[in-house]
Amino acid sequence: MTTSLQQNSNSDTSTKPLLKPGFLSLSRHEWADLSISLGIPAYRGSQIADWIFKKFATSVDAMTNLNRDLKQHLSDHLDWKIPECVSELQSDDGSTKLLLKTAAGQFIESVILRYENRVTLCVSSQVGCKMACSFCQTGKLGFFRNLSTHEILAQFVFAQRILNAEGRRLSHVVFMGMGEPLDNYANVVKSVKILTSPDGYGLSNRHVTISTSGVVPKIAELANDVKCALAISLHASRNDLRDELMPINRKWPLEQLKDSLIQYQQTTGQKITLEYILIKDKTSGIREAKELVKFIHGLQAKVNLIPFNSHPGLPYDRPSADEIRAFQEYLAERSIASPVRYSKGLDVSAACGQLAAKTIHSVDAAPERKRVIGIEPSLT
Ligand code: SAH
Ligand code: SF4
Repeated sequence: MTTSLQQNSNSDTSTKPLLKPGFLSLSRHEWADLSISLGIPAYRGSQIADWIFKKFATSVDAMTNLNRDLKQHLSDHLDWKIPECVSELQSDDGSTKLLLKTAAGQFIESVILRYENRVTLCVSSQVGCKMACSFCQTGKLGFFRNLSTHEILAQFVFAQRILNAEGRRLSHVVFMGMGEPLDNYANVVKSVKILTSPDGYGLSNRHVTISTSGVVPKIAELANDVKCALAISLHASRNDLRDELMPINRKWPLEQLKDSLIQYQQTTGQKITLEYILIKDKTSGIREAKELVKFIHGLQAKVNLIPFNSHPGLPYDRPSADEIRAFQEYLAERSIASPVRYSKGLDVSAACGQLAAKTIHSVDAAPERKRVIGIEPSLT
């Protein structure tokens, strides 16, 4: 374990190129191309893709209808390592928190959220995050590296294999775990394409949500590149307050963010979700509610109100139930529906990052800055 932390600390700031592509990073089309380039009949590529996308196979050996030579070819040409599950914690509310260790030895987290009629997976897109939001434990950690498409999809496959035993299927994916998805654009977009392709995992486009702190140039690109749902972590609707909470606002202030959302809506015709954390004496007053109403004007948006989750070391508190109600009522009176989303799985540290933080603490007397993450699957 100490070794993994050393790898953590020494890691570079980009996706380390895998010598061979990870087997989960290939689309069905790419499996067909690979078959052709290996001199294998195309139908074999389709059989392999079925093992991966329909049966969630994680090893060549599991693919029982392939001959030995082909298995050897696949082993030689692709990387078959997937993150290992270090811990699996069940919450009383039906969520399961997974702490995974990547082949490079870094910890990432995913959360399975079970509901009566759907199952959602909250996935991580990076180890750490560059954005340094002041209310978020990931922000305190700093940035280590991007996850590859293979590592992002491995979280999905791992979770689905757990759900297989329950006879359930993942129906939704939210990029609300560790990291800023639009700061790992290419790998996240490719993952979304494989998740939503009818030839891939076949999830509905509306059931895969990218949540972003507001990487403005990438919001415009996203509108053209992939169909999925978009959530914006807004949290404040005036620049001085958002600058303080979310340093990204200094680079792309609210006016630019709003313009990019209007443009996104013009291109996609889609409603967006605004996530809004209620922090006592910061974002939860009537002044801030008014500012939020003004920001929403001209957008097709719904709002999720997320009562702040406190973590040791974060300088904020959650507002009282009355304050939360007053904020919500202010919006409701102006015809803005804004459900309050309480985080699931708090008894098992399901706020992404908390578990990684605990693990790191237990193996290393890490300085304060090493505490990891604090992201909620708030949309679910
Ligand atoms: N980086 C992306 C996605 C991951 S964060 C983003 O910021 O949108 C997922 C959500 O959890 C974001 O809305 C984030 O602001 C929220 N979050 C982070 N820390 C939180 C806390 N302490 N309490 C409540 N929500 C938090
Ligand atoms: Fe990064 Fe999102 Fe946390 Fe901000 S809220 S530090 S963008 S993970």
